[in-house]
Amino acid sequence: MAQMSSTRKKILIIGGGITGLSTAYFLQETIKKEGYPIDLCLLESSPRLGGKIVSERVDDFIIEGGPDSFITQKKGGMALIEALGLSDRLVQTHPVHKSVYILSMGKLVAMPKGFNLMVPGKLLPFALSPLISLPGKVRMGMDLFISKKSSIEDESIASFVRRRLGEEAVQLFAEPILAGIFAGDAEKLSMKAAFPQFAQLEHAHGSLIKGMLKRQSQSKKQGHPPPKWSLFVTLDEGLSSLVSALREKLDQVEIKTNCPVLSVSPQNSGYNVQTEDTHISADAIAITTPTYTAARWIEPWDHPLSQLLQEMTYVSTATVSLGFNRKNVQHPLNGFGFVVPRKEPSSMMASTWSSTKFPGRAPKDHVLIRVFMGGAHHPEVTEQDDADLISTVHKELKPILEINGEPVVARTFRWNKANPQYHVGHLDWVSNVEHETQKHPGFFLCGAPYRGVGIPDCVQQGKETSEKMLKSLRLQ
Ligand SMILES: Cc1cc2nc3c(=O)[nH]c(=O)nc-3n(C[C@H](O)[C@H](O)[C@H](O)COP(=O)(O)OP(=O)(O)OC[C@H]3O[C@@H](n4cnc5c(N)ncnc54)[C@H](O)[C@@H]3O)c2cc1C
Repeated sequence: MAQMSSTRKKILIIGGGITGLSTAYFLQETIKKEGYPIDLCLLESSPRLGGKIVSERVDDFIIEGGPDSFITQKKGGMALIEALGLSDRLVQTHPVHKSVYILSMGKLVAMPKGFNLMVPGKLLPFALSPLISLPGKVRMGMDLFISKKSSIEDESIASFVRRRLGEEAVQLFAEPILAGIFAGDAEKLSMKAAFPQFAQLEHAHGSLIKGMLKRQSQSKKQGHPPPKWSLFVTLDEGLSSLVSALREKLDQVEIKTNCPVLSVSPQNSGYNVQTEDTHISADAIAITTPTYTAARWIEPWDHPLSQLLQEMTYVSTATVSLGFNRKNVQHPLNGFGFVVPRKEPSSMMASTWSSTKFPGRAPKDHVLIRVFMGGAHHPEVTEQDDADLISTVHKELKPILEINGEPVVARTFRWNKANPQYHVGHLDWVSNVEHETQKHPGFFLCGAPYRGVGIPDCVQQGKETSEKMLKSLRLQ
């Protein structure tokens, strides 16, 4: 039962990315509903809200600088879209051109049909695929007979895939696709934290292929209707519309942009937050910034927690979007894009064919292609200036996509130390951080470095944090 206090309380959220905005939104909705006497304030260092979410309209191209979509299978994203009344603005991926290609000796080869990231879900296309060598296929097939790991210890993505499917699967799928999602190193990233579904598949069925085939046949037998939404969706005007919709809804939150937080310290029973021109006292506080920023603030008053936060590593990436006249690109662009295995002599990590993946990303008779650069294996690339990055990408794409003209639009976005890396042991690290944080009532850390980097995970963390914050004020 909620216990009402007569004095007004204050909750402060630091960071105006999707986690901070979601935290503020869920807090506001409960506070309004329950009539709690709480003031809300959100501080964001940059001039705009959204953090990694940034969409730009340039000459009728809709260019995403960070995320271009989110997964519909996780509840956080879709629930927020519905709550904000944005469902009729959702845009699905291309219904037919769903292939993902892999760059192999400079040429694009489609992933075999039915592949789920790295596990064959259809045997014939897998057997006939020119992408995987015969010994590679035999080794992948051995997954059917290799017994499951006895211990439940975490391991790297590469170690897991090597053990179950062999080295070729590591190079073709684990490195560029699984680790690519984190722009990270498959030898270091945690299987349990990044792809728990595969670890569970092995645990439940003793084999990834068996498990995948069983799940498919079960779902066929149960006659599930096809899902209403494609696996990934976006918004008609780009993902920044989600940020604008949140901003509009947050009518009970004092939002300060251009307001970098300089320090955070405990004060009486709450916290004191110092900005460039003022200080603000709050009864509860949620920090959604990168861990290295939070660690700096915490260092003077909780050295062990600060040290723990400094253990998180980040990599830098850049996205380069190029728009072309359709007639200057000979490739049919009949898919979502391609990934680049490490053995290919290329500085690109992956490419999304944005104008095929989603409608409305490029004007008529034009195409939009986005390339991911940098990450754990090419950190030096992000040091190039914009003109060099654009020219590198253009030069590398030319022979692959048979491009014979100059881009009509080129836009680069840089993400410096922005991609948190869930290394082996990540889930233990999160538990330790949460354990240490609990020593400070009303103090919360959430966002991409902790329990999921995807937008739905960040929204969900915002929701859960809002509930914990109200509980900490003994209001829920
Ligand atoms: C290139 C790229 C592509 C991606 N693609 C996808 C995708 O397709 N789908 C998907 O689901 N996810 C994707 N992600 C991941 C996802 O976008 C992020 O994990 C998520 O947006 C992070 O949200 P956040 O609020 O936790 O952090 P952020 O967005 O980083 O927000 C943190 C905020 O804190 C602010 N801040 C920092 N320091 C201070 C300070 N001192 N004072 C006040 N404010 C401060 C920052 O300015 C920022 O606005 C992608 C990420 C990148 C980089």
